Amino acid sequence: VVEMGTPDRSVVTTCAYCGVGCSFKAEMKGNELVRMVPYKHGKANRGHSCVKGRFAYGYAHHPDRILSPMIRDRIDEPWREVSWEEALNFAAQRLKRLQATYGRRSIGVITSSRCTNEETYLVQKLARGVFLNNNTDTCARVCHSPTGYGLGQTYGTSAGTQDFDSVEKTDVVMVIGANPTDGHPVFASRLKKRLRQGAKLIVVDPRRIDLVRSAHVEAAHHLPLRPGTNVAVVTAMAHVIVTEGLTDDAFIRARCDTESFADYMEFVSDPRHSPEAVETLTGVPAAELRAAARLYAKGGNASIYYGLGVTEHSQGSTTVIGIANLAMLTGNIGREGVGVNPLRGQNNVQGSCDMGSFPHELPGYRHVKHADARKIYEDLWGVEIDPEPGLRIPNMLDAAVDGTFKGLYCQGEDILQSDPDTKHVAAGLAAMECVIVHDLFLNETANYAHVFLPGSSFLEKDGTFTNAERRINRVRRVMAPRATYADWEVTQLLAQAMGATWTYTHPSQIMAEIAATTPSFAGVDYALLDELGSVQWPCNEAAPEGTPLMHVEGFKRGKGRFIVTEYVATDERTGPRFPLLLTTGRILSQYNVGAQTRRTANTAWHPEDLLEIHPHDAETRGIKEGDWVRLSSRSGETTLRAALTDRMSPGVVYTTFHHPDTQANVITTDYSDWATNCPEYKVTAVQISPSNGP
Ligand code: SF4
Repeated sequence: VVEMGTPDRSVVTTCAYCGVGCSFKAEMKGNELVRMVPYKHGKANRGHSCVKGRFAYGYAHHPDRILSPMIRDRIDEPWREVSWEEALNFAAQRLKRLQATYGRRSIGVITSSRCTNEETYLVQKLARGVFLNNNTDTCARVCHSPTGYGLGQTYGTSAGTQDFDSVEKTDVVMVIGANPTDGHPVFASRLKKRLRQGAKLIVVDPRRIDLVRSAHVEAAHHLPLRPGTNVAVVTAMAHVIVTEGLTDDAFIRARCDTESFADYMEFVSDPRHSPEAVETLTGVPAAELRAAARLYAKGGNASIYYGLGVTEHSQGSTTVIGIANLAMLTGNIGREGVGVNPLRGQNNVQGSCDMGSFPHELPGYRHVKHADARKIYEDLWGVEIDPEPGLRIPNMLDAAVDGTFKGLYCQGEDILQSDPDTKHVAAGLAAMECVIVHDLFLNETANYAHVFLPGSSFLEKDGTFTNAERRINRVRRVMAPRATYADWEVTQLLAQAMGATWTYTHPSQIMAEIAATTPSFAGVDYALLDELGSVQWPCNEAAPEGTPLMHVEGFKRGKGRFIVTEYVATDERTGPRFPLLLTTGRILSQYNVGAQTRRTANTAWHPEDLLEIHPHDAETRGIKEGDWVRLSSRSGETTLRAALTDRMSPGVVYTTFHHPDTQANVITTDYSDWATNCPEYKVTAVQISPSNGP
């Protein structure tokens, strides 16, 4: 920590890392940030924080920040620093020419879950209101899009059902495909506190994560499933609940769609879904799975928390549906201590989805095919909204390779580093005639850009983030934008250069437009947020101070809908050449591709990505602790150092993806979730062998 002196003022704002959404006091001396102090009145964190939010803000002043706009005619030319006006006109003229030549659907946008709700709303408005197409997608595509689909189909809304406080009333917690200790540390602390008070824990994860056995915490059951078999495990739990008579029949009769329940009962009762029948497939001992299902069904208030280990699979949406089925079967929904809770990775994944970033949905999850929803925006914006859903990120890249998608505005997202199948992403970007990167740093995607627009950090702007519990938190400007404009202003300037007449002077006006057009945000304004600290949507006339618990009286869609969850094996198979399975995750001190945390002192705690290997798998290949290891898959290969640990099951290896040298996405496949195209980052067949180093 660099102590800058005694602060003379402080500003309450929100951490820009994970989906917990901790509140901080940014303590300032003049225009210098002295330190970030966890805010004791923050409703998501109550004065707690982790090392990322507390210390990893130095990137805002890192010399790598690009502070001048840059352009170039071709990507093999050097960048030219230019004025904002020249850069924006250059970008606008190119985009207009592309639409004139190739059609209005030839360009699009990618929004970021790191940006504010207001910025995200403006980027999708740029696509729908200025480009006149629905080619808008978000980096939530590659993390929690299956949550949107799965919870939308079963419950009618794409969001976690509980507030974080709810964990204090839970008796049984099932954590599946999530590692809260590293990914959501402040929530993990609250969870561990409840476990120490006696709540029981079920962990479903291929790794023996910290929660399975750490200080004063021991899971009642750890189901170390083989990567890619979530659906089989969750369906087997439902089979036990149904065949052993552990269902909450009164809840099902009163709250759920009986026709869908009858179909589901017939499906799930089949002996082929029993724990014994799937034991070989999943690698989970049948007795352990049965015991876990019984505990979940009859252990009192039971809650489920899940993460990307659920969603980032070819059956990510099916597993989310299966989890939703479990909660309905047992009546564990609609009150404190229960529920289904996606742990959102990035600070504003929830908000990014809420704001209409997906190509088929307007803000508030209203499908673009519905004329009445389009009309709200048509009347307000004075344009005709395209009724056809636009392109998802992978479809944009495919269309670029095919020559029909030509221009992209990408805000706050490094798709070359974070999206799967790096070679294909590069080919798509290289085929475009106008790539605009709007970011803090010259990221990997910028190698293929024609325009670079400097971004602003969370310290430099006003707005809101929505955390994993639907809590809308204020982000407050702590210092002036280092590159002149906040991100929302840059999007507005680009829209104006394209001919739009937007006239926002403050993000509060954007939020007013969001509230006026989005029923679940109807009651949200900055004055209310200042008064209450934060609110959870829906916040409207029916719930003027927000909604901590969802689906209390009925589901958003009316009756909860059961959906059959047939297990379908991923096309990614192990074999003699690639006999191991690779899965990926994060560690506490770093964050995603590390663009920010690598530019802070946090890097000292984790200077490189390691490959975790079970000692048996290492020994049979002559690999020792700390050795260089070549990691290869059908897609590519990379080199990392070995970390031998029995946290891993034999046959499964694990790495993080915080350092660009690792190039984890050179290894991953291009398989994706059947419903949403969320990439299957969590299952890659690999081989490992000793190496002399990179
Ligand atoms: Fe809180 Fe997450 Fe930020 Fe850590 S990274 S301080 S847990 S919001």
